[in-house]
Amino acid sequence: MRDVSKFLTGFKRFQQSYLGEQHDLFSQLIQQGQHPRALMIACCDSRCDPALLTDCDPGDMFVVRNVANLVPPHVQATYFAATTSAIAFAVHNLEVEHIIVMGHAQCGGIRALMEHKTPTCNEEELIAKWLGIAEDARQQVLHEFQDKPMQILTHTCEQSAILVSLENLMSYPWISSRVHQGKLALHGWYFDMQTGELYEYRPESGAFEVIVDNQEVAI
Ligand SMILES: [Zn+2]
Repeated sequence: MRDVSKFLTGFKRFQQSYLGEQHDLFSQLIQQGQHPRALMIACCDSRCDPALLTDCDPGDMFVVRNVANLVPPHVQATYFAATTSAIAFAVHNLEVEHIIVMGHAQCGGIRALMEHKTPTCNEEELIAKWLGIAEDARQQVLHEFQDKPMQILTHTCEQSAILVSLENLMSYPWISSRVHQGKLALHGWYFDMQTGELYEYRPESGAFEVIVDNQEVAI
């Protein structure tokens, strides 16, 4: 078993950086509380840390992470309260101005959804029940791209599931009303870790378009 010493030496560096050099920022955050401008809903995947990907400072972003970055619809809010209560806190208490749902390439959760295997144990049942939130995305992808290879189906579903989550966000009256009043903006982002590019869903074109390309950095 690998030990956790790497995390402890990392915490030491954090202390030196944020509690040393940037002590003012943390003092302010402690005294005045947090006022993040955005809520990011991201996947649990260890390669998709929102703060790392956006190079954010502490206090910039409130983060909810779950398998496949899903948002349950309003009718299931209490059933999946771990995610929905965090969203409610960010919107109602912190009054964030943006909600970003960030999906990513090679998402194991979406791959499991597309493979649609029958659960063989309690753990798999739990995961399948959660992934069922994106069942509409799976159905849509199967309907439109039935004969394509699994890799294409999964890639398409990774993006379709983001749209399902954005649609589900709008099913919460306290979110849709803020969106209509111009107090809150919703964004669908997609991190393609293979190309190193960041995409955003553009309703005008109905497609995900590159918003940060990767012409200079080779992976
Ligand atoms: Zn994922």
